[in-house]
Amino acid sequence: MRSTIVWFRNDLRLHDNETVTRALEENEEVCFVYIKPKENQNNPIAAIAYPFRHQEQFRLECLHDLQSQLSKRGAVLNYYEGNAPDILMSLCDKHHISTIYTGAEYAHDELKEEAALSQHITLKRYHTSTLVHPQQLPFEISKLPDVFTSFRNNVEKGFQLTPLFRVPEQIQSHQLSLMSTAIPPLSSNHTNNKHDIHFKGGRAAALQRIQHYFFDSKCISRYKQTRNGLLGMDYSSKFSPWLSAGCISPREIYAQLLRYEQQYGSNESTYWLKFELLWRDYFRYVMMKYGNRLFYASGIRNISGQYSIDWNLFNKWCIGNTGEPFVDANMRELWHSGFMSNRGRQNVASYLVHDLHIDWRWGAAWFERLLIDYDVYSNYGNWQYVAGVGNDPREGRKFNIKRQQEMYDAEGAYVDYWLK
Ligand SMILES: Cc1cc2nc3c(=O)[nH]c(=O)nc-3n(C[C@H](O)[C@H](O)[C@H](O)COP(=O)(O)OP(=O)(O)OC[C@H]3O[C@@H](n4cnc5c(N)ncnc54)[C@H](O)[C@@H]3O)c2cc1C
Repeated sequence: MRSTIVWFRNDLRLHDNETVTRALEENEEVCFVYIKPKENQNNPIAAIAYPFRHQEQFRLECLHDLQSQLSKRGAVLNYYEGNAPDILMSLCDKHHISTIYTGAEYAHDELKEEAALSQHITLKRYHTSTLVHPQQLPFEISKLPDVFTSFRNNVEKGFQLTPLFRVPEQIQSHQLSLMSTAIPPLSSNHTNNKHDIHFKGGRAAALQRIQHYFFDSKCISRYKQTRNGLLGMDYSSKFSPWLSAGCISPREIYAQLLRYEQQYGSNESTYWLKFELLWRDYFRYVMMKYGNRLFYASGIRNISGQYSIDWNLFNKWCIGNTGEPFVDANMRELWHSGFMSNRGRQNVASYLVHDLHIDWRWGAAWFERLLIDYDVYSNYGNWQYVAGVGNDPREGRKFNIKRQQEMYDAEGAYVDYWLK
């Protein structure tokens, strides 16, 4: 009997997941595996003790939800903790498996794991995380434009959504006898204290969020006007946590957007969501083009800068104690909730780099620890952009924090909410 493993990483879904569909089509038995990765030792922030409960809780909720999607179909999710290549190789040895299916990733740590595995087994990787598939791009990755507008103009022309991948109602799965551990239970007293935003991990919650943001509230039709908001749940879609865990694909969101436009009409706002999803795609393609340069202080543009290494100042930024109210409010929101608006992210990043003159990678590493929507491509791509070493064609973009506060928090409601 031909058996294989589907190795889930940041694609925690069965629907519109080519990895799952192909594995089921090409094999008689499929084992589903998730491995909680080891601590990233390259992250300088790893040394700071912090419970990271929002990120961890969200991921656990996603896994429990995936488990229940699988069990409805007669399958199980095998959960492990440790070094992914070691665990996968021992599973393959024991069960005479020679091929593993997984969603393609393009960042350093993930590629390193894949390289270790590829020496021993065949790894089938499927690109499942973008709206526009690499094969739909009108250029080679090496010719990816360095300016987003040029990417978007080229890609939008003639883009058509191809059919979503479906998953069968029943799955012939197989419980590996090499002991997998139970998925850790969800913490019952987890709350986003002092915050009216609550993100619950998993596909069911992602679908509810789409239903609410599109069809129930029709907030999507006002998105372009509200998207720079700071307080509350509905100024922007809040799809990012589910997208980063892969509970839902951007293609599924886009399919729902098209359905919405057919029912209620399209406008600048409905278009703008597609625009933002293309930004997300773009940073994936930037990583594919530039690889590790996305982690260099000098960035993809190779611009060297003088950075302060003032740990004390950095610490104040992290905990929201810089004395700049707009920055502090945003940093406290991140600490307490695991989320921050796009407007907030741009401001705190600019402040760290252009006012405190601290290496942008320290800030990116802090975001990596705390954001529930942490995504290596969007995070490092956006940080480089703000730091002026990435894909921003304009030089020296520095935010005037006081002016930004006046524009986006004129009444002070946001700052009061987090600082009082
Ligand atoms: C310094 C910095 C770090 C960031 N780190 C991350 C990160 O780790 N993970 C992450 O998903 N986003 C990151 N972003 C992008 C953006 O801030 C978030 O995607 C957005 O705030 C999420 O809220 P939303 O889902 O309501 O977005 P919406 O405004 O509703 O946008 C819809 C979707 O489009 C995508 N999107 C929107 N803006 C961007 C953008 N600038 N870059 C890439 N994709 C975008 C997201 O997937 C988002 O869910 C970062 C931005 C900055 C300035």
